[in-house]
Amino acid sequence: MPTEASKFQGKAIINGRFLDGGGERRIALVNPADNAETGAFAASTSAQVDSAAKAARAAFEKGVWHSQPPPFRKAVLSQWSDLIEKNREELASRDLLDMGKPISAARFEVGIAAGFARYYAEAIDKFYPGRTAPTFPGACELQVRRPRGVVAAITPWNFPVVNAMMKLSQILAAGNTAILKPSEQSPRSAELLVQLALEAGMPPGVLNLVQGDGETGSALAAHHDVDLVAFTGSTRTGRALMSAIGESSLKPVMLECGGKSPELVFADIAASDRPDIARAIVANAMMNTGQVCVARSRLYLEDAIFDEMLELVTAAARAMAPSDPRDETTQMGPLASRKQTKTVLSYIEAGVADGGALVLDGRRNDASGCYIGPTLFTGLRDDARMVREEIFGPVISIARFSSESEAISRANASPYALAATVWTTNLRRAHEIPAALNAGMVRVQACAAPNPVGGYAHAGEPAKQSGFGIEGGMLALESFSRLQSIETVFGAAGTP
Ligand code: ADP
Repeated sequence: MPTEASKFQGKAIINGRFLDGGGERRIALVNPADNAETGAFAASTSAQVDSAAKAARAAFEKGVWHSQPPPFRKAVLSQWSDLIEKNREELASRDLLDMGKPISAARFEVGIAAGFARYYAEAIDKFYPGRTAPTFPGACELQVRRPRGVVAAITPWNFPVVNAMMKLSQILAAGNTAILKPSEQSPRSAELLVQLALEAGMPPGVLNLVQGDGETGSALAAHHDVDLVAFTGSTRTGRALMSAIGESSLKPVMLECGGKSPELVFADIAASDRPDIARAIVANAMMNTGQVCVARSRLYLEDAIFDEMLELVTAAARAMAPSDPRDETTQMGPLASRKQTKTVLSYIEAGVADGGALVLDGRRNDASGCYIGPTLFTGLRDDARMVREEIFGPVISIARFSSESEAISRANASPYALAATVWTTNLRRAHEIPAALNAGMVRVQACAAPNPVGGYAHAGEPAKQSGFGIEGGMLALESFSRLQSIETVFGAAGTP
C-alpha cells in the first residue's frame, strides 16, 4: 500500500483551516483491488457546510480573489499547477487506493489535472469579459460578465483529480469562490488538492472543502449562500439535485450526468485500418474499466463489415484483462467498488435474460476484488435494459445496421445525449451525420488516432438526460460568470 496515502487527514478545509467533520457520521473507505478497509473519515455536518458556505461568501464579498489584479490570480493558479505536478506521486497513489485506478493512469491524470490549472491561469488575462451592444446615439450599453459568487463543485469518483481540477480551475479563473465536495468514495486526493491551493497562495476562504456523501452534497446545494451548483455524477442524483434546488434556494445548476453513447462504424473505413480501429474502439470503451460518462457503450457496425469488425473487436477485448492497479504495467484495473461491481453484474444478467449473446464474458469467480473483464454482447434489441441504461462498466453491446438513416435513428434513440463517435472516410458523412446526431460531443474519425485530440480547448454541452451547461475551453468562463448589462445615457439623443 502506498505510504503517502496514509497522510490523508479526512478533514474539511474552511477558511484555510483543517477541521474535523463536526459530527458522528463516519464513512469507511475500501480499496476495490482487495476489498480491504483502508480508513474512514467523518462526514461534514450541515453546520460545517454552513461554515464553508459562509467562508466562501465572505471571501467573495471582501473581494480577496476577484478584485485582485489578474497577474496575482494567474500566479496563484500557475503555482497550484506546479505543486500538483510536484505531488504527482502522492495524488496518484491516493486515487489508486480510493478507487482502484491503475497507477500509470493515475499519474497521467494528475498531469491532465495540473494542466487545467495552467490553462485557466493563462486564460485569466486573455478572456475579455464583456462587449458593447448597439444603442441609440448618446447612450452606451456594456454587457459585462461578472463572477457568479460562490460556486459549489460536486464531483464523482471516476476521475477524482481531473474532475475536481477541471471544475475548480474554471470556477476560480472566472473570479468565483468555491466549495468542493468530492465523492465519499474518493476523498483523499481532494484534500491534498485544496491543501496545495493554500500553499500556492490562494487566500483563505476562496477554496473550501467539505467531505461526505449525498447528505452533505444536498445540504451544500440547498445553501442560500451558494449561487451556482456545478455537478458531475449520475442522472438519478442530477434529478434529485434539481428538485431539491427548486424547493429550496432556486439557483442555476450545471449538470454533467450519465450517457449511453453510440459509436457508428461505416464500411467505408480502409480495410488496412480496421485492426487499429477495433483496438481503439475497445481501448476507449474500456478506459477506466468503462467507468466514464462518455464511454461509447453502444457499438453499431455496418452490415458489410459486421463479421470482420466483430472478430477484430472481440480479439482486441480478449487481449485485455483487469489486474492489480498497483502493478506499473496494468492498463485496466478493478471497478471502483463492490456496489459498482454488483450493478455491472446485474446488467450482464439482464442482457442474458433479454436474449443477448455473450460474445465475451468478463465475469470472474473471484471474491477478492472488484474485477470484471471486457464483456461483449450481440443480439440485443435497442430497447433492452442494458442497451438503454448507463452501466458504467466494461460492457459493450454490438449491433448491425444497414443504412445511414437507420444508424442515425438508432444512435439517437436514447434518453441520453452526451457523446458519439462516427468512423468514416466519407467527407459528406463526416459533415452531415454530426448535425443529425443528438450528442453534445461528436468525434468523427477516419482512422485511429491518439486520444484526446482537443486538449484543454475542448468544450462540450450535454443534452437530454445527460444534463446541460458548457464546460471546457474558454467557453466555460462564460458558464461560470453571469451577464450584467450597464446602460449609460450621456446625451439627450439617448432617450428613446
Ligand atoms: P456516482 O454514482 O457516479 O457516484 P452520484 O450521482 O451518486 O454518482 O454522486 C456524484 C456526487 O454527488 C458525489 O459527490 C455524491 O456524494 C454527490 N451526491 C449524491 N447524492 C447527492 C444529493 N442528493 N445532492 C447532492 N449531491 C449528491
